[in-house]
Amino acid sequence: MIDENKIMEGVRLLLEGIGEDPSREGLLETPQRIARMYEEIFAGMTQSAGEPLAKTFHAKQTDMVLEKDIMFYSTCEHHLLPFYGKAHVAYIPNGKVAGLSKLARTVEIFARRPQLQEQMTAQIADAVMEYLNPLGAMVMIEAEHMCMTMRGIKKPGSKTMTYAARGVFREQDGLQNRFFQMVKDK
Ligand SMILES: [Zn+2]
Repeated sequence: MIDENKIMEGVRLLLEGIGEDPSREGLLETPQRIARMYEEIFAGMTQSAGEPLAKTFHAKQTDMVLEKDIMFYSTCEHHLLPFYGKAHVAYIPNGKVAGLSKLARTVEIFARRPQLQEQMTAQIADAVMEYLNPLGAMVMIEAEHMCMTMRGIKKPGSKTMTYAARGVFREQDGLQNRFFQMVKDK
């Protein structure tokens, strides 16, 4: 559970640390605001991917299911700055499919935690494998990291791409190529 008081205390210390006065008017309510915001942007800390993916339907179909262009906002665990972009999630059903909105919901649960893009990509693929038990899963994430554009190497617009392939996607290059083609097609 999220501890609002700890967050507020931490934000006050952080402000003092940069030489600010946390008691000046503009900053008075900042610790409280950040605590409430963190409850929202880190809500995934108390949620499991099992929630959206638990309800499945029987399907004979064994063709690729792809949910693409799932917008997400996450927080880099190294700098606590946002990274955001699109996730594309595919799987080859093995008798079970989930509602399409459930894949987007799964992305959101993992995004709303302190994250690394590579780790989030793998976690989504592993959750799809675990809960839908498909023949294979593939996840691609393209994201812009504020810790690279606001500071450091400062390359606005540069994107980081990550992939995770599981099951048949790992064994068959042809399937991966089809995935990339479908993601690219408008
Ligand atoms: Zn970072």
